[in-house]
Amino acid sequence: MPLTPDQIAEIESQRANPRPTLRAVSDGMEAHLYRAHQVLDHGFIRVIDYMGDDAAIVQAARVSYGAGTKHVQNDEGLIRYLMRHWHSTPFEMCEVKLHVKLPVFVARQWIRHRTANVNEYSARYSILDREFYIPAPEQLAAQSTVNNQGRGEVLSGAEAARVLETLKRDAAQCYDDYEAMLSQDGQQGLARELARMNLPMNIYTQWYWKTDLHNLFHFLRLRADAHAQYEIRVYAEAISACVKDWVPLAYAAFEDYRMGGVTLSAKAIAVLKRRLAGEAVEQADSGMSKGEWREFCEVWG
Ligand SMILES: Cc1cc2nc3c(=O)[nH]c(=O)nc-3n(C[C@H](O)[C@H](O)[C@H](O)COP(=O)(O)OP(=O)(O)OC[C@H]3O[C@@H](n4cnc5c(N)ncnc54)[C@H](O)[C@@H]3O)c2cc1C
Repeated sequence: MPLTPDQIAEIESQRANPRPTLRAVSDGMEAHLYRAHQVLDHGFIRVIDYMGDDAAIVQAARVSYGAGTKHVQNDEGLIRYLMRHWHSTPFEMCEVKLHVKLPVFVARQWIRHRTANVNEYSARYSILDREFYIPAPEQLAAQSTVNNQGRGEVLSGAEAARVLETLKRDAAQCYDDYEAMLSQDGQQGLARELARMNLPMNIYTQWYWKTDLHNLFHFLRLRADAHAQYEIRVYAEAISACVKDWVPLAYAAFEDYRMGGVTLSAKAIAVLKRRLAGEAVEQADSGMSKGEWREFCEVWG
């Protein structure tokens, strides 16, 4: 359970006090505001605030005085054009602020996305909670034999049980030691900023994370992708569901051109043209490396 009853009550009281505003409002995003969407065993994402909607993208692109056109079709066409031609700045006019609770090893991947504003829970100031990410059995997989940066078959039997037991035991032991070092009962008590260094990377941290829609799409493109590590991908998927409701036209264009689309190199275009002309092309005479050829065939057969 990621939220306590008090925290849930706080969120509900915030949601119970709507105020009228002249600002752009996205009905889809209003439904998400403040609510926690659970991710992994103890994590979540919550939308804390947002700015703009689909119309704000159109308005910025046209540098107009109003809220875009009255015709959804025109707005959709323009948004698709902007996405197709990498005209990115209108998408930067929309922003979102999230509260995220995530394991430290996921946070290390996430923080590499520099085009965001972050404020993290201070483990110098506060004591971390006894909450550790323990993978569900179906996520406990062996090292992949084809991809150095991935996982393969799910562990089974005694090995799976042993690994789970080790993860749980080590987390509990490290947290017990953390508490023992912090304790001021009959001793001085080690500083929080030092005691934390003995904690494992599956402990949970929290932050506020604010970014604009262009850079959020970049984040989602990389982290909601099938090649991203499962533990960050599930966060990206939860955010994607909110973005879909927030800016449905922009999200549909993003899904079409970025998530569902592929980029073709000049060599790949040449191979496709030769194939369309009836030629049987092999990797050796494609001009592509083995890796490129494998990725090309994954899409084009
Ligand atoms: C599947 C996968 C595997 C990865 N493996 C590794 C790994 O093994 N080791 C590792 O270290 N990282 C790894 N990364 C992280 C990756 O290299 C990027 O750091 C991360 O995805 C953030 O991307 P970004 O820099 O484009 O995003 P952001 O930091 O959000 O930047 C967005 C864009 O802004 C521009 N930009 C931002 N800051 C600067 C700057 N200071 N200078 C110039 N341009 C800037 C760039 O154009 C950049 O693309 C991996 C990422 C993925 C998705």
